[in-house]
This record gives sequence, structure tokens and C-alpha cells, in this order.
Amino acid sequence: MKVRSKRESGIDSRVRPAEEEVRPGARERAVEMLRRLLKVFPRPKTALLHDNPFQLLVATILSAQCTDERVNAVTKELFKKYKSVTDFAMAPPAELERDIHSTGFFRMKAKNIKSCSMALVEMHGGIVPNQMEALVRLPGVGRKTANVVLGQAFGLTSGVVVDTHVHRLAQRMGFTKEKTPEKIEQDLMKLFPRKYWLDVGSVLVLHGRKTCNARKPKCAECVVADLCPSAAIFLRQLS
Ligand code: SF4
Repeated sequence: MKVRSKRESGIDSRVRPAEEEVRPGARERAVEMLRRLLKVFPRPKTALLHDNPFQLLVATILSAQCTDERVNAVTKELFKKYKSVTDFAMAPPAELERDIHSTGFFRMKAKNIKSCSMALVEMHGGIVPNQMEALVRLPGVGRKTANVVLGQAFGLTSGVVVDTHVHRLAQRMGFTKEKTPEKIEQDLMKLFPRKYWLDVGSVLVLHGRKTCNARKPKCAECVVADLCPSAAIFLRQLS
């Protein structure tokens, strides 16, 4: 059996979890919360429609500050018009901007998609690499986008996706006191065993949309309320 190297497996050696830094009992509590949420959201997957890693990369870039539904509506036509990495690399900027206009921040997104496609053609023969180090070197691709692509398109656990929902829930649920996505991701990687990293990001996004909303979290109907340090605070505010 071929053993994959760290490079091939997408593991970023700079973000190795430090088991000894986790408080006693914190991991058990966190994993129990995740297990309960996985019963509510079994086998969570990205809602972004795609047929290959490159399409997921484009859809993830478009999803910044935009709903998955809107992105899917746009990519349905976009991927019919631009069928390959080269098509995106050669797209006239103004035309690409028009094609993705309704996803918001269209100038920056079009620039990133075009630059990223050009870099893929020049550096990787038009193929999306499956290593974190290579992905984050592409224009417009940060750790969040790279984690989505590695996890959802390649099934590789390279880290935890931290978007605005994960950011908010990780703090509320007592998983971190950090404030930046990078540091929050580090804390989540220390807290959860690697086999849960893909699920943590996906489940917290879904829980954040359905129950633990930004403005009015529905703590009274939350399946992890008895383990959540914020439940009492929110329930007191609402009573
Ligand atoms: S108890 Fe409230 S704050 Fe805690 S995770 Fe559930 S909804 Fe969010």
C-alpha cells in the first residue's frame, strides 16, 4: 500500500495540533457537542454545486459575502459558458464581472478568479493542486477556501473551515477566545481530533444558520444548550 507523504495528503506541517494545550475535559465536551449536532445534520456537505475541484474553487471564491443559493444560480450559467480553467483565464475582465455581478464584490471576485485561473494554467497545468501550501499561493485563495476545496473536493483534512458562522459559534460554544479566523482555526484543530475537522466546519455553519443565529440564537431549542457556556446568558436576555 502506498503511504502518502504529508505534502501529498494536504497536511500543513505548520499547523500541527498541540494536544497538551487543551484544558482537561474540554475535548470531551466539544466532541459530545459535535456528536449531537451530527445527529441533527448527518453527513454535512457543502451546498455549493460543482462537478470538479476547479468549479468548487470558483464557487467558493464567489461565496464570500453571498448566499450559497445565489452562487448556485450564478454558477449554473457560468459553468456552461466557461467550461475550463483556460476559459476563465482568457475571459475578458469586464465580461466576467458582468457574469458574476449579482454575487457582490464582483470586481475583486472576477480579478481573483481570472488571476487564480492564470496561475493554475501557468504553474499547475490547469489542475487544482491538492496541497495546502500550493493552494494558498494562488491569487485570491486563503486558508478558508483551500480548506473547503481540500475537504470537499479531495476528502483531505487539512484544517477547519472558519467562516463567519464558525467564527461566531466557536466563541459562543467556548471552543476559543481568539478573534481572528487563523487563530480560531488553530484552537479548533487543537480541540478536535483530526477525524472531525471536516465535520466541525460544516456542522457549525449549518447550526449557525438554523439555530445559533447571529442576532437571536434559539437556545431554548438547541441540542447542545446544557453544554454551551452562552446558553444561560442568551436565555436570561430573552426572558
Ligand atoms: S445554546 Fe445558544 S448560544 Fe449555545 S450553541 Fe446553542 S443556540 Fe448557540
